[in-house]
Amino acid sequence: MLSDRNMATSSVISGFYKLQPKERLAIIKDFAGLTEDEVRLLENTGSLPIDVADHMVENVIGVFPEPMGIGVNFQINGKDYLIPMATEEPSVIAAASYAAKMVRDGGGFHTSSTAPVMIGQIQVVKIKDGETAKKQVLDAKVGILKKANDQDPVLNSFGGGAKDLDARVIETTMGQMLIVHLFVDCRDAMGANAVNTMAEAVSPMIEQLTGGHVYLRIISNLAVKRLAKAWCTVPKEAVGGETVVDGISYASAFAAADPYRAATHNKGAMNGIIAVVLATGNDHRAIEAGGHAYAAFNGPYTSFSKWVKNKNGDLEGSIELPMAVGLIGGAVKTHPIARIAMKILNVKSANEFGEVLAAVGLAQNLAALRALSSEGIQRGHMSLHARNIAVTAGAKDAMIDLVAERMVKERKVRVDRAKEILDELCTKQ
Ligand code: NAD
Repeated sequence: MLSDRNMATSSVISGFYKLQPKERLAIIKDFAGLTEDEVRLLENTGSLPIDVADHMVENVIGVFPEPMGIGVNFQINGKDYLIPMATEEPSVIAAASYAAKMVRDGGGFHTSSTAPVMIGQIQVVKIKDGETAKKQVLDAKVGILKKANDQDPVLNSFGGGAKDLDARVIETTMGQMLIVHLFVDCRDAMGANAVNTMAEAVSPMIEQLTGGHVYLRIISNLAVKRLAKAWCTVPKEAVGGETVVDGISYASAFAAADPYRAATHNKGAMNGIIAVVLATGNDHRAIEAGGHAYAAFNGPYTSFSKWVKNKNGDLEGSIELPMAVGLIGGAVKTHPIARIAMKILNVKSANEFGEVLAAVGLAQNLAALRALSSEGIQRGHMSLHARNIAVTAGAKDAMIDLVAERMVKERKVRVDRAKEILDELCTKQ
């Protein structure tokens, strides 16, 4: 099947998807000049068996392992949580744990959330008159919702399903469009498949009602009806004194007013949120897209968390963002490690899960702002980063810490310096 292909240079591989992972790997080995050791590393899929991976996505040749650690000290609504976090970035898990401890001193995190309602969008084009088409759809609401709900009796049995709809007329470069929004309560599912199925099912009805043509039928990741909120009070003593409280408040005001800063401020919160979303096999792109779109929902892009000093001089923080996560669906049940992560997290509903994620985001944001407002981010970051640099330079076992410590002390965290230190230490041995 593959004999006529120039194995060494062409990326056109007809029927690649039909091959077994081992066969695909043989082709990639040839293409990229992989060594036997590299092939063996790819073949060693550890706790995610290759046949499971092969059913999860397409064209599988191996798996990509990432460290998973546990965020400790979290207390949310009076309940203690251990937070599984998968990330490649040093200091994220330590920072979240440290911030959770500070917040614990002030009574822990408090959270709330809306019902788990997602929006399915149906794009109707080539309509004669937008307002007339809108009325035609709204008048047929009961029938459209019934058609949507017929698609998912399981979701209905859990109390979810299509609950309402709305329609908007928008002006575009391609003329007027009617955008129908289906509001679907997804209960403990993230809901993209459920919502997309419903949106597709009701589209012929909408075309018939409006005389228009439906193109897109897809969930919106700007999940403004599925929001999670977390807030906390951190005693000034726990955060490092009133000057640090002031620094964090100034940092928050900076992020609220300046999109350049807001992007990094929000990225800091996402460091924690995405690590948990990843560990649990949920869709982290949906959370990133939703969070950032929400941050620009009411005007220019801004921060989705804020910190202020209260009248006692303590720090008060809050965060609110869309949280489209599930306890079922996607890879949540198929990935063996995601199942274990869920067990460790011990949440009973998608809402509780979303609220925990909001608390993690707030903790991560606090840790970053505290470091930035006091000693600077590099001190904590660099000592962990130095270990990675030491490994890159070839350090192993006990040498990793020895090389890393020297580089941090010298404030020269660079691969060339790591190599010099490593050579020096090895010669001494
Ligand atoms: P899914 O279809 O696998 O599972 C949802 C279904 O599970 C429900 O429709 C329901 O029938 C059933 N179910 C059983 N118990 C339930 C309970 N307690 N609560 C709710 N439903 C229950 O998954 P999904 O959540 O519909 O879709 C998630 C997947 O869709 C993710 O993998 C995501 O990556 C993917 N996706 C995302 C987008 C996007 O975000 N834009 C687009 C397409 C696909």
